[in-house]
Amino acid sequence: VARLIDGKKIAAEIRGEAEREVQALTRLGVVPSLVAVEVGDDPASELYLKRQETSCARLGIRYQRLRLEDSVTEAELIRQIGHLNHRPDVTGIIIQMPLPQHVNPRAARRAISPEKDVEGVQPQNLGYLLSGRTSLVPCTAAAALACIESTDLVLHGTEAVVVGHSETVGKPIALLLMERLATVTVCHHGTTDLASHTSRADLLVVAVGKPGLISSDTIKNGAVVIDIGINEIERDGHTEVVGDVDPGAADRASWMTPVPGGVGPVTVAMLLRNTARAVARQGPLAG
Ligand code: NAP
Repeated sequence: VARLIDGKKIAAEIRGEAEREVQALTRLGVVPSLVAVEVGDDPASELYLKRQETSCARLGIRYQRLRLEDSVTEAELIRQIGHLNHRPDVTGIIIQMPLPQHVNPRAARRAISPEKDVEGVQPQNLGYLLSGRTSLVPCTAAAALACIESTDLVLHGTEAVVVGHSETVGKPIALLLMERLATVTVCHHGTTDLASHTSRADLLVVAVGKPGLISSDTIKNGAVVIDIGINEIERDGHTEVVGDVDPGAADRASWMTPVPGGVGPVTVAMLLRNTARAVARQGPLAG
């Protein structure tokens, strides 16, 4: 039976690091300040944003929400982001997803100044992943890596399979693993026989958003399984949060992330650490 990867414990360590960095900045008279840009009213995002707000407050990071109407044009959203880029009192910007259909998320991400891109999703920061730079790495990818590094798996030479190839999660993870000399296969919609890949993976990372996509009989014995998916399902009249991997996979895996309590809390901690680190790249301290 798999050992569970304790996301809350890993998150606490990273939050501790972030807290020390924020305290050092505050002593220098600089208060990190994050603005979350949200478009429209998404009840699912509300809980997430409240959590962000509480986590920031605990560490001494200033947190504000910029709410825009659902009908906002892409041009106006980009103008608003440009305004935040120029405000010296704003050191970090995040754009809450999903955006309405008429706004291209790539265009929105591109508008964030790379120095304030605490989620690491602006093209310049994504590009740095190709050359192995380690700061302002996309939060979820950094979190998945921290979960993997908490196990005894040696990445060098490992057969790794990443399921999901989104620009902000799957692809960055594949690059981080490749950088560490794992042999990486990336699966997606176009993959014809998903099980043939997952069943030979020593490290399986799944980031799709489909509950039950990976059944337990398609996992290699002894694999390390990192389940990034977050899905809300109805069971016995109440809502439950589950990942993309059948929890029964724990019978075959050597290590596995629980959902919830695995990659999720570590991702929030990475956001806080990036928020502290981004400050050093800008005005007051970068000179
Ligand atoms: P996304 O942008 O929707 O990407 C999903 C990816 O899955 C796409 O690359 C898609 O490929 C691929 N895919 C869809 N159906 C597939 C299938 N049947 N087999 C293989 N691949 C398939 O989502 P995301 O932002 O990457 O997030 C993925 C999941 O992680 C979601 O559940 C999200 O809620 C969760 N998430 C969790 C955290 C956390 O902190 N734990 C953070 C971020 C996201 P195509 O583009 O080819 O369709």
